[in-house]
Amino acid sequence: MSDKNYLAWPFFEPHHAALEQALDAWAVQHVAHGHGDDVDAACRQLVRQLGEGGWLRHAIGGTEHGGAGDSIDTRAICLIRETLARHNGLADFAFAMQGLGSGAISLFGSAANRAEYLPRVARGDAIAAFALSEPQAGSDVAAMQCAAVQDGDHYVLNGEKTWISNGGIADFYVVFARTGEQPGARGISAFIVDADAPGLTIAERINVIAPHPLARLQFTDCRIPASKRLGEAGQGFKVAMATLDVFRTSVAAAALGFARRAMDEALQRATQRQMFGQVLADFQLTQAKLAEMATGIDTSALLTYRAAWQRDQGGKVTKEAAMAKLHATETAQQVIDAALQMFGGLGVVSGQIVESLYREIRALRIYEGATEVQQLIIARELLKET
Ligand SMILES: Cc1cc2nc3c(=O)[nH]c(=O)nc-3n(C[C@H](O)[C@H](O)[C@H](O)COP(=O)(O)OP(=O)(O)OC[C@H]3O[C@@H](n4cnc5c(N)ncnc54)[C@H](O)[C@@H]3O)c2cc1C
Repeated sequence: MSDKNYLAWPFFEPHHAALEQALDAWAVQHVAHGHGDDVDAACRQLVRQLGEGGWLRHAIGGTEHGGAGDSIDTRAICLIRETLARHNGLADFAFAMQGLGSGAISLFGSAANRAEYLPRVARGDAIAAFALSEPQAGSDVAAMQCAAVQDGDHYVLNGEKTWISNGGIADFYVVFARTGEQPGARGISAFIVDADAPGLTIAERINVIAPHPLARLQFTDCRIPASKRLGEAGQGFKVAMATLDVFRTSVAAAALGFARRAMDEALQRATQRQMFGQVLADFQLTQAKLAEMATGIDTSALLTYRAAWQRDQGGKVTKEAAMAKLHATETAQQVIDAALQMFGGLGVVSGQIVESLYREIRALRIYEGATEVQQLIIARELLKET
């Protein structure tokens, strides 16, 4: 097990270290590595368990609704994601989606919407999803075509969303649709759509290399009460970006958790595998690799918790969160690849921990803004500053 000296870094308060230690102990008991073939059932169960364990209280903001604090503690959600990712990728996914799927409600929901949805999310009684991407609008969010037209005290939604995590098992979706107040990004609004709303169908379930519930959604004359709009009409892009600003740093934290697990596996393998009359770790080539991996992990952790700390101080973190996500996800991919290499043939056997980490890390370099998008964000912020 990698050392936990980083919990003493000045980014944290004493309760953060206590949270990590309690969750680590809980995860050992409740979420072993891997899951069965029925990923929907496994995910539902994990959400229930995380709710019962009290961990989902950190995914929402507002103590009056069952939250751990009045607002989302970014360092806490990062530590939770890092710890869960180290134990079980699907547990991290289940936690992350409760937060991302309800984040816009925590940040922008009316009192009635917050009271209706957030307590159920925090208890693990309702599964949340975040529906932004479309077949023709992934990186280019402003190209969104799904439309919502106001009709009295309702909006009528028509269009598609794709790559929607928890699609098919969610109880509600936070959906972004074009309302046309202005062109491009300024003409989008956000809505809560219950999974059983007439006109919402699961058009396709999508299988990915690290299985989790994922779907394409179809909206056909789907009527949503105007009271379920989040924030002002035309402010949906702002709602989406504010939500991603909180959770983007936590993607870096999940990558960090995967990398730490790979490091633990690599150290164990390297110190046990006999070859050429010594163990793998006795070779300087192996030592150089281990040093590179450890340094990559620490730089990822520093960037991640710098961004999380800065957000918790109320600062703007657009550039810092982008740096953390870019660096931690790319580095984790390299760390996991290096760990897998140390396992030789065993590394590519289905069910091996390094094999599943190798599949699990890949999508993190794509979703919530691909690596190239993070590079553009960092450069844009730098150029603004000059
Ligand atoms: C497993 C998984 C889960 C997801 N979950 C959700 C979810 O819950 N909700 C949701 O709304 N979306 C979700 N997504 C969608 C995700 O956010 C998009 O896949 C992502 O934004 C990229 O969009 P795209 O797939 O359309 O790729 P494209 O936009 O077509 O981009 C393709 C590639 O082009 C490159 N690229 C992009 N922009 C530039 C640029 N400016 N310059 C150079 N290169 C560039 C990047 O390498 C990118 O990977 C998920 C995706 C995956 C894979």
